[in-house]
Amino acid sequence: MKATLIYGAGDVRVEHVPDPKLLEPTDAVVRVLRSCICGSDLWPYGSKATQDHGDRIGHEFLGVVEDIGTEVTGLKPGDVVVAPFVWADNTCDFCREGLQTSCRHGGQWGSTDVDGGQGEAVRVPQASGTLVKLPVGEDSALLPSLLSLSDVFPTGHHCAVTAGVTPRTTVTVIGDGAVGLSAVLAAKRLGAEQIILMGRHTDRTDLGRAFGATDVVAERGEEGVEKVRELTGGDGTHTVLECVGLKPAIETAFGVVRDGGTVSRVGAPQYPDVPADFGVFFRNITLTGGVAPARAYIEELLPDVLDGRIEPGKVFDRTVGLDDVPGGYRAMADRDALKVLIRP
Ligand SMILES: [Zn+2]
Repeated sequence: MKATLIYGAGDVRVEHVPDPKLLEPTDAVVRVLRSCICGSDLWPYGSKATQDHGDRIGHEFLGVVEDIGTEVTGLKPGDVVVAPFVWADNTCDFCREGLQTSCRHGGQWGSTDVDGGQGEAVRVPQASGTLVKLPVGEDSALLPSLLSLSDVFPTGHHCAVTAGVTPRTTVTVIGDGAVGLSAVLAAKRLGAEQIILMGRHTDRTDLGRAFGATDVVAERGEEGVEKVRELTGGDGTHTVLECVGLKPAIETAFGVVRDGGTVSRVGAPQYPDVPADFGVFFRNITLTGGVAPARAYIEELLPDVLDGRIEPGKVFDRTVGLDDVPGGYRAMADRDALKVLIRP
C-alpha cells in the first residue's frame, strides 16, 4: 500500500510500504476513508533533522474495518470507525478516569510497527478500546465532521472543558488555526455567551464568527490584551483557551484572563517556561489543559455531529489525494490552507 513518510524538515514523501496485517489478537486492520494533516504535523515538517529513512506520519483517520483479531469485540469487518489520535485499551485505570492519552497499554500512530494515519490502511492495536463505530455509510456527507472527532474538535473541547467554560463564563480563544476555531465551537456548544477570538486572518476569523465568536481581536501583544480588556469592562475573561503553543500566546493568555480565572492550553507548547510569577500568583490564576484524551469525548460529541447541530468539519478547506499529501503540507505550512483533508 501507499503511505506518507517524513524524512526531515520540508521533506514528506508518499511511498510504497508493507500492507498492514494483524500482529496481535487485539488488532484490527482499517482501510482509510479519510485522513488529514494536523497543525502538530507542521512542527516536524518545520524542524525535523534530515534522516536517510522515512518515519510514518499522520494520527487522524476514519475508515472501514477490514479484518479483526480473535480477541476483538464489538467490531466486525465492514464497520465504519473513527480512531482517536492515540490508541488505548479503554479499560485500564487511566482510561477509566478518562485519560486515554496515559493508557498503560496505549501508544502513538506511526511508532514502531504501527502505521501512521496518512496512508491507505492502518493496523490498529487495542482495536476494541481504540475504535468508535460510526452509524454512517462509506459515502456519508458527514465524514469530514466525523473525522474531526479524531483530534481537532475534541482538542478544542478539552480546552473548553478543562478551562471550566459554562453559560456563566466569558471566554477568550487565542489562535485562529483549526484548534482555535474548534475551541470557539466547543465553547459555544457549552453555552458561553461572550467568546472573544484573537486572530488576524479574516477568512479564518469569519469561520470563527460562524462557529460562535461574538468578538474578534486582530491585534497582538499588549495591544491585543488592551482590546480584550476594553471588551470586558477592563477585567478580562473568566476563561482563556490558548490554542497556539508559542510563548507570546501564553503571555497574552495571562494578560487577558480575569482575576480568579483559568488559562487552559492545548497548543503543543514550544516553550520551556510558563510566566507564572508572583503577579500571576497574586491574581489567583489557574493554569490547566494538556493533551486531549479525544477517546474520552467521542461518544458525547458524536450525536451533535450526526444530527447536524455542529459542523466541526468546516475547518477543512482543502482536499487532496494521497499522492498530493506533500503539497498539502506545503499549503498548511504556507498558511494557504487552514486544514487539509486527505482522501486516499
Ligand atoms: Zn488504558
